[in-house]
Amino acid sequence: MRRSLAPSRLKRLNGEEEEENAKRSKRGRILSSSKKSVAPETVVEKPPAPITAESLSNHEALIRQILTKPFKVPILNYQGGIGSRALGVRRDGVRRPLHDPMAPNALVLYTPPQLSAHDLLKVDKDKVQVHVVVDPVLSNILRPHQREGVKFMYECVTGVRIENAYGCIMADEMGLGKTLQCITLMWTLLRQGPDCKPLIKKVVIVTPSSLVKNWCNEIVKWLGGRVHPLAIDGGGKEHIDKQLTSFMQTYSQRVVNPILVISYETFRSHAHVLNKGEVGLVLCDEGHRLKNCENQTYQALVKLQCQRRVLLSGTPIQNDLLEYFSLVHFVNQGLLGTSQEFRKQYENPILRGQDAYATVDERKKAEERLSQLIGIVNRCMIRRTSALLSKYLPDKTEQVVCINLSSIQKQLYQHLIKSDAVRRTVKDSNDKVSLTALSSITSLKKLCNHPDLVMDKILSGADGFEKAISLLPKEYIDTYKRQKLQVELSAKLMVLDTMLAVIKTTTTDKIVLVSNYTQTLDLFQRLCSLRNYNYVRLDGTMTIKKRAKIVEKFNDPTGGDFIFMLSSKAGGCGLNLIGANRLVMFDPDWNPANDDQAMARVWRDGQKKPCFVYRFLCTGTIEEKMMQRQAHKKALSSSVVDCEEDVARHFSLSELRSLFQLEENTISDTHDKIKCKRCVNGVQMKPPPADSDCTCDLSCWYHCADKRWLVDPILKSCWPAGISFVFYQHSTKVKVDEKPAVKEEVEDETEKDNDEVDDGSGSESNEDSSSDFEKENEAYND
Ligand SMILES: [Zn+2]
Repeated sequence: MRRSLAPSRLKRLNGEEEEENAKRSKRGRILSSSKKSVAPETVVEKPPAPITAESLSNHEALIRQILTKPFKVPILNYQGGIGSRALGVRRDGVRRPLHDPMAPNALVLYTPPQLSAHDLLKVDKDKVQVHVVVDPVLSNILRPHQREGVKFMYECVTGVRIENAYGCIMADEMGLGKTLQCITLMWTLLRQGPDCKPLIKKVVIVTPSSLVKNWCNEIVKWLGGRVHPLAIDGGGKEHIDKQLTSFMQTYSQRVVNPILVISYETFRSHAHVLNKGEVGLVLCDEGHRLKNCENQTYQALVKLQCQRRVLLSGTPIQNDLLEYFSLVHFVNQGLLGTSQEFRKQYENPILRGQDAYATVDERKKAEERLSQLIGIVNRCMIRRTSALLSKYLPDKTEQVVCINLSSIQKQLYQHLIKSDAVRRTVKDSNDKVSLTALSSITSLKKLCNHPDLVMDKILSGADGFEKAISLLPKEYIDTYKRQKLQVELSAKLMVLDTMLAVIKTTTTDKIVLVSNYTQTLDLFQRLCSLRNYNYVRLDGTMTIKKRAKIVEKFNDPTGGDFIFMLSSKAGGCGLNLIGANRLVMFDPDWNPANDDQAMARVWRDGQKKPCFVYRFLCTGTIEEKMMQRQAHKKALSSSVVDCEEDVARHFSLSELRSLFQLEENTISDTHDKIKCKRCVNGVQMKPPPADSDCTCDLSCWYHCADKRWLVDPILKSCWPAGISFVFYQHSTKVKVDEKPAVKEEVEDETEKDNDEVDDGSGSESNEDSSSDFEKENEAYND
């Protein structure tokens, strides 16, 4: 979470630093004044009450008070040393918390049991427990949900929440400050404990290679010079071995570099060194890498001698519940039984119940098991959705934009799905997607972006594209060979082109364009040169250092770059693109997490403008089906992770198998499939539920079969370029418009065009084709 320190805050911080210094020097003085050290009276009231072995006379107390008058460094704004103890200052006998638990804003993680005055006399002075209080440097910047998160993790790793279990999963959605919460936890454990000594001496942070630097930067950013992390990512094997050995072999009270940041790859290849000694805490960033118990990284990490394990992940479930099991198993072994037990007890019944054709009994059983599972898991996992962010951030409008294929795209599409190659794959009753199927899927997806992306296959008459060349107008091939971009051959590109033009001419907004394919980024680049737009491009090949540079340049409001092109494969985690407030996902990804990650680049802390996210899909094509499958996966994830019992069972497994079917005569296959009751003849008669937002599934979004009902003027003006349907929703619960949608129609009379007639007939014939399609699908399943 990035937040500038307001002057008032800064003042308070300094004030607290002074107080700290005062306390430190106090200790020093007390020490020099008397060996039998007793805290001054002024402190007595503050918990934990220091134990006084003897009582002082008023006179003695006065002297002590004079002697312990806080020493002030005579330098203006002096902030104190960066360590908590100055050189040569020894602790006095009295145990006290490192930070004042009564201070304003103090975040107390542990409160020792209250002792009666009688017990106080009996208790061994050296065993009195103290409060564990987060360093004010951190607690003063934590937001309420972050304070809660830190407390939760602390309770997990100290075994308070579950007996004999010391791990947890921090599964907050992106943008909620997982990193800061973890740094707070780590820093607290490294410095404090109820027994007046640090709970841990060493921390290992394991992270994807691209984020090693990022972690170090964050640590330095939040903790200043208080600690120096040791970063290891790649390099000579011997050198690394040496560094790691020395890290593992340090056992002294104060380790110089108590924090090791290491990439998963390096960890794996040096596990033999790291598994030799004990580590106090391990943090695994992007923890979904450990979704498979079998893989080598998992195996290497599991062997680490470390009880306290924190796994960070914004996306705990990506594909199936078993992955989820792996993650919980990693942090708290045995909590969910063995993988076989888990499968039998939870996975199988839950999946059965989520199928659209499940019986009532099966559904009931699934619900039971799910709530059982949720109950167990919730004790060691914390997950807040980014809906929380809406409190701090400007509104975000997400829009799923269905765009008709251009006629040439449609012809090629049909050619491919009717080809022998595809027929053969569909006939194969084999459940596993064959290699040819995968390549056909890729071709379909690329074709949806632009025919140019499959031109080499067309020209060579590759599998599925035999004789497809005859479908192309001759001048197209010529123009293609001259490498001239023909925007109008792709409907999505036409909409994008229009959108960029409107944004550029009517606003000062910047935009991020995201695609799965570097080839599509090439396409964007050609479009930019055609229209003279300034842009930057980031894909997997760029070095981390260079990335940071172009990001900074782009975010600078005075910088002239209008467009930021991002490959979703480039690992956009941690990338902050708040210079833009609009983002186009040009093609969907199979994994909703990747899409979410890309979208979180602009709608994040620091963003000042309202945001607009556009997800482009070609109507009726594989792209819509991917979107539907995403919805299915999301339903699974949110049912376990967000406790939303009422999983929308809109998509059956058989529907998900229909990838190779082009749904024609529809304005949105997805809208057809959700069997929406709020829309009548293409007009939304009833608004979505009042408490719905972007995190709800599409059935609870606004449905627009006509541009008149759009709220985003930019998208409205792009409608004629080929848009057939739009779903939109806001991040914040806006006041629902009371007046019926039909009324707006009248107001917007001037904009009326012929579309409506087409839409009406279109959506009617949809229903027919969709039900036909279902019958067909059922037959296919039998
Ligand atoms: Zn609808």
